[in-house]
Amino acid sequence: MTHKVFWDDPYQTELATRIATVDGNRVTLQATIFYAESGGQESDRGSIAGLPVQQAEKQGRDIVYTLPAGHGLHAGDAVAVRIDWPRRYRLMRLHFAAELALETIYRDFDGVQKIGAHIGEHKARIDFALPQPITSQLAAITAKVQALIDADSAIISAFSDAANERRYWEVPGYCRVPCGGTHLQRTGEVGRIALKRKNVGRGKERVEITLLAETAHD
Ligand SMILES: [Zn+2]
Repeated sequence: MTHKVFWDDPYQTELATRIATVDGNRVTLQATIFYAESGGQESDRGSIAGLPVQQAEKQGRDIVYTLPAGHGLHAGDAVAVRIDWPRRYRLMRLHFAAELALETIYRDFDGVQKIGAHIGEHKARIDFALPQPITSQLAAITAKVQALIDADSAIISAFSDAANERRYWEVPGYCRVPCGGTHLQRTGEVGRIALKRKNVGRGKERVEITLLAETAHD
């Protein structure tokens, strides 16, 4: 099983570890900071032993990384893992903005159901099954989400079931939500956001989230 350092410290950008297994151009690591797409959050970008990771995928409790052919690595080799931090930090900020938007919409609309979500580097989206357009409430939802961000509350991230790698995030006094993604330490790190509604078909509503500032402290 790959030890997931991105849960211990989601802000770590470099890690010294060892290759666990090699199968052609696919390798696993003893420990990793390199997130593989899951729960709608895209994979990190970065390198292992200076080689660009072409693909990262979850496989049970391991994460399998595809490296360029002829990488020359063997099980037990010491390697450095690096991730593209500006990209990961944007993913973390958009991910948490989506978490707060989702929680706000759940509270505002009885019986609303999430039917999809995707967190990219420049945009997050959440899709809902909802009979009526969300348009008229969008400004109010945006204000509520921004208020949660501006409160700069502490975010707890921990295991609910370590043996089965089940995790949650919690803003004490607000909510506790199961999620295995990488989460910020404070809501304020999200910074200023914008929400946009898109029509994606009858009975479906899409909310797109973008960051208005390049960094949380611009
Ligand atoms: Zn999450």
